[in-house]
Amino acid sequence: MTTSGKERLDSLQRLWTPWRMAYIKDPDQASEGCPFCVLPDRGPEHDRETLIVYRARWAFAILNAYPYNPGHLMMVPYRHVASIDDLTLEELHELADLCQRGVRALRAASGPHAFNIGMNIGGVAGAGIADHLHQHVVPRWGGDTNFMPVIGQTRVLPELLEETYDRLLPAFAEDEPGSGT
Ligand SMILES: [Zn+2]
Repeated sequence: MTTSGKERLDSLQRLWTPWRMAYIKDPDQASEGCPFCVLPDRGPEHDRETLIVYRARWAFAILNAYPYNPGHLMMVPYRHVASIDDLTLEELHELADLCQRGVRALRAASGPHAFNIGMNIGGVAGAGIADHLHQHVVPRWGGDTNFMPVIGQTRVLPELLEETYDRLLPAFAEDEPGSGT
């Protein structure tokens, strides 16, 4: 890559990912603790900062701060467990409920064409935070792999995380799990 090309990507990254620096600088969200344990512990009054869009009894839904696409959600049990076979039945069922709720909320908020849903169990499988299980729900649009360049782990995004959060929040709150037709 040419120097000017690299500079352009650096400035794009600063332009489109300002939350990333805030995330790194906030001592409460530093990598010492597990973020999936630390963030919900900060309390519901911090949910907009921590990007938690919904709290259920055994698990919660949170926007990925390093999204592949706008609206990239993660469904996470409160308990610090690494694998799907460590979950209780209640936790497992609630993750499935949250997953369905997340798909509905994303459909209502931003009309994606498709979804990728899945878990990476263990670091070798690609889990970024391998010690605390999380299920990804990634909205997809036709052509999204063609025009959004990958910059490290961060794509160039057409909107900021908080805007996504504000659109998803009411869609999440309105839906009832298991109310599919
Ligand atoms: Zn944890």
